[in-house]
Amino acid sequence: MFKAILISKQDGTQSVGLADVEESALPDAPVTVRVEYSTINYKDGLAITGKSPVVRKFPMVPGIDMAGVVEISTNSNWRAGDRVLLNGWGVGEGHWGGLAQKARVNAEWLQRVPEAFTTRQAMAIGTAGYTASLCVDALVKHGLTPDRGDVLVTGASGGVGSVAIALLARAGFKVTASTGKASESDYLKALGAQAIIDRNELSQPGKPIQKERWAGVIDSVGSHTLANACAQTRYRGLVAACGLAQGMDFPASVAPFILRGICLLGIDSVMAPQAVRQPAWERLARDLDAASLDRMSTVIGLSEVTNAAENIVSGRIRGRVVVDVNR
Ligand code: NDP
Repeated sequence: MFKAILISKQDGTQSVGLADVEESALPDAPVTVRVEYSTINYKDGLAITGKSPVVRKFPMVPGIDMAGVVEISTNSNWRAGDRVLLNGWGVGEGHWGGLAQKARVNAEWLQRVPEAFTTRQAMAIGTAGYTASLCVDALVKHGLTPDRGDVLVTGASGGVGSVAIALLARAGFKVTASTGKASESDYLKALGAQAIIDRNELSQPGKPIQKERWAGVIDSVGSHTLANACAQTRYRGLVAACGLAQGMDFPASVAPFILRGICLLGIDSVMAPQAVRQPAWERLARDLDAASLDRMSTVIGLSEVTNAAENIVSGRIRGRVVVDVNR
């Protein structure tokens, strides 16, 4: 038996609880992982609260992230004792996920935990942090350099935003953080933000083209915020879009694209190939120090997961929430 968060659905009503699960109930897959840590991402919040149809099969163990140690592997790439992490691949949506003491997964979904990190630190990063790194990689790959001007990070106090600020600052960029939490200014500055703006400046409908401000943008918010960020992006600037915390809509015009030649880069973490994941994790291992990770993360146990899920979908979380599945 092992402990897991289990989402069930009966007569159209979803219920969530901490359960003791038989090991024989694990899905059929070649690698069994003794999970040490998981996390609460925004998507986990949606799955656990049932606010969006993230879960595609019931019963489901949620958790799009996990880090732990291989227990049994019938795949030659992994051996018992290997330290592994997993982000996405539909785990916690269509295949049992990481909010449990055990998981059984496909071999090609796993990555080695970088030497620089403990399994807890790998989950302090989690999908949110790895997505932030994907965003920075995309901006840099498309030619963004610190001398081109300021970079805007929206949803700044959230998981993606916090890691994005730390990575950009370490790479020498001047970062402006957009947040709804004025009380978190010191936190955002400690991560590396040089300026803070109120998110209300961006969240309302705005003109299709506005004063040029940003050489680059990392947006985890979507909706009017993304539209305004594009409208304020400087000539030939770059915008990486990865999230929808404000909304899935994109009420924008083509003006910034055809008049300023800006470029909008879409970022997906779930099905990203290993060739894209590896450099993102290498950047994290190189540029994210333990002090920043500690500053941005809190640790909870499995019994606190439901509450944390409510908090993340209500925007009440700062930084990252790590789940110690053995606590
Ligand atoms: P968090 O909840 O940790 O952060 C989101 C932040 O957005 C909040 O902290 C808040 O920051 C801001 N925010 C919340 N609600 C609103 C609102 N109504 N209007 C404007 N801003 C708001 O989530 P994550 O950082 O984990 O994820 C952020 C987004 O990125 C989510 O939509 C998530 O689904 C998406 N995502 C996408 C991935 C991909 O593969 N494309 C992977 C990972 C995440 P503040 O208070 O500072 O303003």
